[in-house]
Amino acid sequence: MTKEVRTRFAPSPTGFLHVGGARTALFCYLQARAHDGTFILRIEDTDLQRSTPESVRAILDGMEWLGLDYDEGPYYQTQRFDRYAEVVQQLLNEGKAYHCYCSKERIEAIREEQMKAGAKPRYDGHCRDLDQPPQGSGFVASPVVRFRNPIQGTVVFEDLVRGQISISNGELDDLVIARPDGSPTYNFTVVVDDLDMGITQVIRGDDHINNTPRQINIYHALGAEHPQFAHVPMILGDDGARLSNRHGAVGVMQYRDDGYLPQALLNYLVRLGWSHGDQEVFSRDEMIEKFSIRDVNRKASAFNTDKLDWLNQQYIKNLPNEEVAVHLQWHFAQAGLDPADGPSLADLVSVQADRVKTLKEMTQLSRSFYADFEHFDPGAAKKHLRPVAEQALRAIGSRLADLSRWEPERLDAVVRLTAEELEVGMGKIAQPLRVALTGTAVSPSIDKTLWLTGRDRSLARIARALEYVLIRAAAS
Ligand code: GLU
Repeated sequence: MTKEVRTRFAPSPTGFLHVGGARTALFCYLQARAHDGTFILRIEDTDLQRSTPESVRAILDGMEWLGLDYDEGPYYQTQRFDRYAEVVQQLLNEGKAYHCYCSKERIEAIREEQMKAGAKPRYDGHCRDLDQPPQGSGFVASPVVRFRNPIQGTVVFEDLVRGQISISNGELDDLVIARPDGSPTYNFTVVVDDLDMGITQVIRGDDHINNTPRQINIYHALGAEHPQFAHVPMILGDDGARLSNRHGAVGVMQYRDDGYLPQALLNYLVRLGWSHGDQEVFSRDEMIEKFSIRDVNRKASAFNTDKLDWLNQQYIKNLPNEEVAVHLQWHFAQAGLDPADGPSLADLVSVQADRVKTLKEMTQLSRSFYADFEHFDPGAAKKHLRPVAEQALRAIGSRLADLSRWEPERLDAVVRLTAEELEVGMGKIAQPLRVALTGTAVSPSIDKTLWLTGRDRSLARIARALEYVLIRAAAS
C-alpha cells in the first residue's frame, strides 16, 4: 500500500502572501488533492523579531481568497517550542548534538582566517568532543546547541523537480539548532515538524535547496526517513530580475484590489512553471486532475501581466455570472456602491463581461446604474446634448414612459421605432440618450444601458437632460 500523500505550505509571516508563495501553496494543494491526500498549513513564526500578526492575517486572507483550503492547521511553530526542546534534548542525550561555547568573536576570527586562506568558512568543531565547558577568552557561559553533522560521506537525494542532487558532508557545517536562549532554528524546526506532521512531500522554493542536505542529516540522526523533496524555481519579473515590489503587485491581495478573480490568478500561477500540452485555461478540477509535481519545469519562469490580464478576461466572460458577481460585490463595497440600488450584479456582469479586463474597471464603468452622477461629461454634453437633441429626447422619453415591460428586446425596438419615426439614424437617438442616462458618451449598447439603468431612473434622467438642453438652447 502506498503512503497517504501529505503536503504542507510553511510560510514565515514576515510580509504578505506574495505570488511566489501563493504558487508554492497552490502546488502543495494540488499535489495533495491530486492524490486524495492532506494539505497542511504551518506558520513558521519562530523568528519573533520579524514575524507579525498582520503578516499571519495576510497569509490566511490570501489563502482564503484563493480558495486554497487546508485540511489541517494552521499550526504555529511558536506553539511547539516544548516539542523542539524535547527533540534537542534527545539529540544531546544521544550524542548527536553538542553544546558549543564559542563566542561570536571566536567564530568570526576563524571565519576570517578561513576566508584569507581561500577556504569555505565553517565551524572548526572546537566544542565537538569536550567533557567540560571551556574557559577563557573566546568562550561564553551560555552555549548554543550544534548538530553533529557527519564528517564523511555524501548526501544524495532525488529532487522531484531538479533530479538527483548530491552534496559532500565535507561541505556542511555543524548547524546551530538551538540558540543560547533555547529557541530553535529553522533547519531544525522544519525537520521536527515535517516528521511529526507525517509530511511525505516537501514542496518549496528552490532558495531552500542548500538547506535540504542539512535537513536530511537531521532526519537520519532522528532515525527517520526523509520525505521527498521538490524545489520549485523562482519567479522572475518581466525584466528577468527576481520578482520583487519593484514589479508592481506582488502580494496576492493586491491582485484582488486591482480587480482580478482568484480563479484567474490561480490559473495564471499554475502555468508559471507547469504545463499540460498547450492548454492555457484550467478549471480547478482540471488542475487537480492533470497536475503532477514531476512536470514542473526546472527553469525560472517570468511573470507576464498581459497574460494574466487575458486570463482574467476569460474568467470574467466564461464563469457563471453569479460567481463573478460574488467577487464584484467586494469592489462595489470599496467604491461605496450598494448593489441593492440598481440591477442585480449577475445582470450587470452579463452585460459588462465583454467590455472590461478587471472587476475594478467593471465597477468604475457601472457607477451610473447604481448612483446618480453630478454632471454630464462636458465633452459628451457639448457634442450630444445640443438643441437638436430636444426632439429626440422628448420622443424617446414619452415612448419609454408608455412601455409596460422593461426588457432589452423591447427597449431596442422602441429606440429603433423612434429613429424611424423621426427619420434619423439610430445614433441621433442613442447618443443623446446615452449621455442623458450615464453622463458619458461610452456605455454598453443603448438597449442594455436602458435596461441596467432601470425604468424610473431612466425616465428621470431623460427629463433632466431635456431640461439641460432647453436651458442651453435658451442661453444661445
Ligand atoms: N518558512 C520557510 C519560508 O517561508 C519555508 C520553509 C519550507 O518550506 O521548508 O521560506
